[in-house]
Amino acid sequence: MPELPEVETTRRGIAPHLEGQKVSRVIVRERRLRWPIPEDLDVRLSGQRIVQVDRRAKYLLINAEVGTLISHLGMSGNLRLVDIGLPAAKHEHVDIELESGLALRYTDPRRFGAMLWSLDPLNHELLARLGPEPLTELFDGERLFQLSRGRSMAVKPFIMDNAVVVGVGNIYATEALFAAGIDPRREAKGISRARYLQLAIEIKRILAAAIERGGTTLRDFIGGDGQPGYFQQELFVYGRGGEHCKVCGTGLREIKLGQRASVYCPRCQR
Ligand SMILES: [Zn+2]
Repeated sequence: MPELPEVETTRRGIAPHLEGQKVSRVIVRERRLRWPIPEDLDVRLSGQRIVQVDRRAKYLLINAEVGTLISHLGMSGNLRLVDIGLPAAKHEHVDIELESGLALRYTDPRRFGAMLWSLDPLNHELLARLGPEPLTELFDGERLFQLSRGRSMAVKPFIMDNAVVVGVGNIYATEALFAAGIDPRREAKGISRARYLQLAIEIKRILAAAIERGGTTLRDFIGGDGQPGYFQQELFVYGRGGEHCKVCGTGLREIKLGQRASVYCPRCQR
């Protein structure tokens, strides 16, 4: 599933090809995504210039002169630039054709993604209640500490709550808790301010490193028939249940927390 670093990498990969370009037409081959693509998307977007491509949480905001296309990659979506007229394969549901001769093509085999239209995207119901971006000053350990008081839920689902901070998916929550030495099962309210300060630093560090690694894949977003590369990350614990801890050699344990697989080191994480 594309996580925040992949979505940010997508933004950086497609933005230079979209910004300043005029849309000539929009072709929708399959409307049924998580929500239906608006019937009038072609009418609303065609003829407009794309001003800027932004991101909020895992939503891409393709801002036109009037209105914004809100896109989410869901479980399996991707966006890339192709030459106009390149025959569409299965699951290639949308082309946004540009005057440059390129088209932004949306592919999504599982169709859990979204393409919606809004005149006020930051107040759209999907975005309005989101917590702060993790790589901004609005997110820090003090926020985690304050919001966690009185919360008896486990710390891992707490930091994955989009109202607390956006973009900390299962991979990054798992890895950040390992880096901060915090047992993912601990009650959120029982963790000290100092440890939350450390945890916030680790969340920022790990997300920033993943985005930097994604920079090596930016050329994959244009041309060809391949899928934009979702880069490999160096993982200490995620997906490694039963293997040995890279730090201390202890066997890593896998449990379910808030319906999600969680791996941790019983020695390094307290
Ligand atoms: Zn360990």
